[in-house]
Amino acid sequence: AAAPAWASGFYKLSVAERRAILQQAFPEVFEPEIQAAGGEFPLLPLSTDQADNMVENCVGTMGLPVGVGLNFVINGRPTVVPMAVEEPSVIAAASNAAKTILAGGGFAASTSDPRNVMIAQVQILDLPEEQLAPAAERILAAQEALRQEANSRFCASMAKRGGGLVSVTVRTVDPARLASAQDLFDAGVCPSFEARHARAAADPANQDTPALEVRSPRTPYLVVHLLVAVCEAMGANVCNTVAEGLAPMLERLAAGDAGDLAPRAGLRILSNLAIHRLARASFRVPVAALARPGSDGLQVAQRIVEAAAFAHDDPFRAATHNKGIMNGVGAAAVALGQDWRAVEAGAHAFCAVDQYAAKRPGSGYQPMTQYWVEGAGPDAVLRGEIELPLAVGTKGGAVTTVQSYRVALALAGSPTSAELSHILACVGLAQNFAAVRALSLEGINRGHMALHARNIAVAAGVPTERVTEAAAWMITHGGGPTTDAAKAFLAAQG
Ligand code: NDP
Repeated sequence: AAAPAWASGFYKLSVAERRAILQQAFPEVFEPEIQAAGGEFPLLPLSTDQADNMVENCVGTMGLPVGVGLNFVINGRPTVVPMAVEEPSVIAAASNAAKTILAGGGFAASTSDPRNVMIAQVQILDLPEEQLAPAAERILAAQEALRQEANSRFCASMAKRGGGLVSVTVRTVDPARLASAQDLFDAGVCPSFEARHARAAADPANQDTPALEVRSPRTPYLVVHLLVAVCEAMGANVCNTVAEGLAPMLERLAAGDAGDLAPRAGLRILSNLAIHRLARASFRVPVAALARPGSDGLQVAQRIVEAAAFAHDDPFRAATHNKGIMNGVGAAAVALGQDWRAVEAGAHAFCAVDQYAAKRPGSGYQPMTQYWVEGAGPDAVLRGEIELPLAVGTKGGAVTTVQSYRVALALAGSPTSAELSHILACVGLAQNFAAVRALSLEGINRGHMALHARNIAVAAGVPTERVTEAAAWMITHGGGPTTDAAKAFLAAQG
């Protein structure tokens, strides 16, 4: 596995030189799009007219820097990752980590279910507690009729593509108890918990699950999960349409024929906890490739494992660990036209729901990545793995209508939705690997400060053409990047 030769030293070039290289490397992406953009490089901000068509009360647009994450080889395929983000060090760190990971052949990535299944939830209220189980049985017994109704009336075009409503599950939600991952597992909600459950059950720390907290005296109710295969879409709108469309039929089924029940459909909307669209990515790097001046590779690997364990042990650390992951996932999601709020919501919720597998039951919120060392001596490898739900789409939403999203997707190799989820998972893993490696060795500031210094210099009024010089001066002569140091640079240089 190798990155393209042009990736080496890309960061040292000017913006114009980088654009020229991309145009040369991807003529099929850029030639038609440059033409469509009237000769301009086609990663352009939206026009005000386009923006006005997208949101209410539009008064303008804002920009973000767009860069490319390099050195990614995913399932053997070299991949350029467009990233849009305002934080200075994100793209550099991801590219740097991906380069180290190349030493082990790059990333392996997969998705949990090739059908891209989303959950549409319908809440069924106003049933007496003893009627919940019979109502759930009636709904489950009518699966085939529900499927036919949905696929002929509410998502016919999705069904024609091979998607549509695939199955129905029913859960009881009891407001007096916090839902545990065990409940979800028992309801068959998330098959992926099975392996974790087995791992966790073997861990002595998990033998005593604490009593569940009492929250509120309200009575239990049913929640129907309509599992909708959304093909290449993110799927929010089709799920909402199916949920709203089937709600009256679900009310009738829940009521049964006795005539004494009046169940009511409450909320009808997709769940962003997209546990049937889990993306997984992993790498294996020979520990020898991790060696640094003063630390051998095994020591570095052990420090990385130790740093990641902190996130398993402590939610305060886990929040920051996962924020670093989402630096990469979010930046790529934004550049590739995805609903990054949906991605964020799903990823963090997944970390909180998997508490049964937590090393310390009750600590709840878990990191998205795991690291461990396999083998020994010169054959030892550092393994890294990420798993998170990624409901992303390559059709619908804004991806086909906005030129810069279209270009970014083409640059990323025109992925399918599943492949797009692989890309985001790999960027998240690379970002995290970069962070835990830096944190467990030299600390985060060294890498950050060089880029941060550029922002400080701009803010202090250093002219654009002298920003690089000012940033270097502040670090070597100014005691670090501060506004005072930038002003001292300006004064010293006249
Ligand atoms: P769309 O509503 O745009 O639906 C997908 C569109 O793509 C449909 O028009 C579909 O056509 C078309 N399409 C063409 N080819 C395919 C294909 N191969 N596979 C799938 N669809 C295809 O987008 P989504 O339903 O994906 O919803 C995403 C949007 O919803 C985002 O903008 C998101 O921000 C927003 N949203 C998110 C919510 C949340 O996350 N909680 C809530 C509500 C909205 P056809 O109609 O013929 O099937």
